[in-house]
Amino acid sequence: MKTFNVGIIGATGMVGQRFAVLLENHPWFHVTALAASGRSAGKTYEQAVGDRWKLKQPMPASMKDLMVMDATEDVEKMAAAVDFVFCAVDMKKEEIRALEERYAKAECPVISNNSAHRGTPDVPMIIPEINPDHAEVIAAQRKRLGTKRGFVAVKSNCSLQSYVPALHPLMEYGVTKALACTYQAISGAGKTFETFPEIVDNVIPFIGGEEEKSEQEPLKIWGKLENGAITPAKGPSITTQCLRVPVSDGHTAAVFVSFAQKPSIEEIKQKWADFKGVPQELQLPSAPKQFLHYFEEDNRPQAKLDRDLEGGMAVSIGRLREDSQYDYKFVCLSHNTIRGAAGGAVLMAELLAAKGYLD
Ligand code: NAP
Repeated sequence: MKTFNVGIIGATGMVGQRFAVLLENHPWFHVTALAASGRSAGKTYEQAVGDRWKLKQPMPASMKDLMVMDATEDVEKMAAAVDFVFCAVDMKKEEIRALEERYAKAECPVISNNSAHRGTPDVPMIIPEINPDHAEVIAAQRKRLGTKRGFVAVKSNCSLQSYVPALHPLMEYGVTKALACTYQAISGAGKTFETFPEIVDNVIPFIGGEEEKSEQEPLKIWGKLENGAITPAKGPSITTQCLRVPVSDGHTAAVFVSFAQKPSIEEIKQKWADFKGVPQELQLPSAPKQFLHYFEEDNRPQAKLDRDLEGGMAVSIGRLREDSQYDYKFVCLSHNTIRGAAGGAVLMAELLAAKGYLD
């Protein structure tokens, strides 16, 4: 595989820092440019982050002295310096939509963690194991934008990253409805216990916009490519409640599900054990060997013990059992800033690179 020069937009933030760490020794992608707000621009990465470094792993030595550019003022300069960018910024939705399209129109593909373009019909929202074929909509998007290389592809919300992969191999049994209560880590809000003291000894029952995203985004992921757009699937019907809990990393979901043709518990476990996607077939560098891990122990998965499974790229499932109102219930977990954000975006970029979309 050829190698690519890449940029990180929002490099100083929580997700941006994850990108930096995940890309430090990446075999295909080399970070050569960083950007953030005007507040950080003109400083080295180390100076711009200052005391805001949030990860256990240190800042990659190779990136400390890179000068941070201004993401909105230096679009042309960034685009000229790299083959594509990862983007995770905290700005207004309309501003992010416009910014990502400016990069795309400067012929710089954008792999985004932001929600701004998730509803855009010709922007693929890809979980590489589930809907890699949605990348084909990029041709229609390039036509709309008038670009040869440039496009925007997005990662879905981190909350659904555990239950959509768990439900996906069961779709052949006709999933009719699902209910998910998510217990979401504070890093999902870009916070640590130091910067979010009010979460200690507490549960906060509201995360703005999260329930809408958690219910609607799965339907786009399970949607069909038709006439240059992704048409969302009509079902299953999904309802969610999303709570913020005092956990540093790892979103847990308690899921209830019903089927048109109810499978047995053994069949469900077998489907999870056998499930493989294109990333596993192509052996992409960030692909977990086993995407879905089932734990037989009653007290698993646990955020603290299981979030880092396969480098934080796998999904853990446990406690599958019959339910009195739905057919079954189970618990699942995924690392929100790795598989749910930066790691999922890196895997998507690997898929797009392997399929020639980043040439
Ligand atoms: P964060 O820690 O608050 O970081 C925000 C980043 O945006 C910083 O690099 C900041 O740069 C930059 N920024 C702010 N205003 C800007 C501007 N006007 N122009 C250019 N850059 C600007 O946020 P985060 O948690 O990393 O989240 C970033 C994005 O990823 C959000 O859209 C979020 O919804 C999404 N996301 C987060 C997670 C997660 O688990 N945290 C998961 C999935 C998706 P300065 O340092 O210069 O201010």
